Amino acid sequence: MQLRKVYLPKHLTSALPLPHLCALLIAVFLLASAFLMPETSNDETSVSVKMNEDPHDFAQEIRLDAEFSDIFHDENLLTFEHEIALDVVETVEEEPGIVRYSIEAGDTLSSIFDKFEIGQTIMYQILAADEQVLALDIIRPGHHLTFRKDLETSDLLEMELFIHAGNRVIYRRVDETMFEFEELINPGVWEQEIIAGEIYGSFYVSAIRAGLTKSEILEVNKLMGEQIDFNRQIQAGDRFQIVRSSQRVNDEHTGQSTIEGIRLQQNRSTYTAFLFEDGNYYDAKGESLTRAFRRIPHDQNFRISSPFNPTRLHPVTRRVAPHNGTDFAMPIGTPVVSIGDGVVTRVENHPFAGKYIEIQHGSTYKTRYLHLNRQLVKRGDTVKRGQRIALSGNTGRSTGPHLHFELHVNGRPVNPMTANLPMALSVPREQLAKFNQRVEQLVSVMEVASQEQIAMRSQNANQPGS
Ligand SMILES: [Zn+2]
Repeated sequence: MQLRKVYLPKHLTSALPLPHLCALLIAVFLLASAFLMPETSNDETSVSVKMNEDPHDFAQEIRLDAEFSDIFHDENLLTFEHEIALDVVETVEEEPGIVRYSIEAGDTLSSIFDKFEIGQTIMYQILAADEQVLALDIIRPGHHLTFRKDLETSDLLEMELFIHAGNRVIYRRVDETMFEFEELINPGVWEQEIIAGEIYGSFYVSAIRAGLTKSEILEVNKLMGEQIDFNRQIQAGDRFQIVRSSQRVNDEHTGQSTIEGIRLQQNRSTYTAFLFEDGNYYDAKGESLTRAFRRIPHDQNFRISSPFNPTRLHPVTRRVAPHNGTDFAMPIGTPVVSIGDGVVTRVENHPFAGKYIEIQHGSTYKTRYLHLNRQLVKRGDTVKRGQRIALSGNTGRSTGPHLHFELHVNGRPVNPMTANLPMALSVPREQLAKFNQRVEQLVSVMEVASQEQIAMRSQNANQPGS
């Protein structure tokens, strides 16, 4: 056992009320202990910050809380004038200069930077790097920030945003004027599960009861909407079986899921939807259920002023500074339209991306429209393909009026001009065998659930008094 000292700057100790201080000290200790954990193996070879891959170890937190309560009731500890030197007994080397913070409700990046006395200049340098990912606009409880500071100058060297176990973004200092980002995506494993239920009342209520999320229900509604009217044609006793896959990384659920197959069974008819490897949904015959996308988010023939380029080199630093979108030169005030049906997930104003909109089109596709002059939709709005969502502009860090348009497929930016977009066709003939195999697999999972539902039903019917 060896003694190690954890130093906290004076302003933190004097400015924070006791419970906050306690929380901070626990956070510092947790962070220190996180660095003692053996590094878990995963595919990310470029990670330079090692952290506990299981940040939700509540049992550990509670235990620490109890251990620390005695220390915190020692008054001497809380009357330090300059720096708190808290003696912590540790068993292995720790890494000083690192602070981890769990985002709380009401936090903004700015308030967090104030809390840790990191200047606004640094924040803007990080936001400049974030323009390519736009990950810091949506920090929310459950996310963590880890700051690594230079031990001598206490300059910020690195900040990591932990979104979930499968997705982290590291902002790393390049020089005094700039940060670069690295997004770490760990695909983990996707586990298939079946969600089955009988409809009583509305489909919505029954689906929530069975375990679907609101956005999943929206997607089911949209996919089945072409075949059946969920408001009028649903009857009590209709049964559904939905195959869903959920992501796990290092034994932790990331909260990411995809609907792979849907079956609705009525007395006389059965309706189905199956996700194929091209990211589109088809019925059992292989006819597309996803409405066609358009490729261009405007109605005129504007020239591309800067194409999608994942390996673009920064003219000054010669570092890779990807251009994740396609730029169209267009006058301020030009109507911008959604390239597909979807739900508006973000209406934000970013110091570098400017006013922008993000639209989720099912679980596979997402689009972003940047540097807008005016946003015409609200978060949560449902939009149709071709619907006006904004007027183009020149907001944020922009060298002239243009629209920066991004298309993401399964969380990765792709070239919107060449990507495979749902075009409302049927499965290509040469893919049919593969598609049929996939349908067979999904239906067999659904069939097991369906048989259970039937067995359960007759069991209930045979029970006296039911
Ligand atoms: Zn651009």
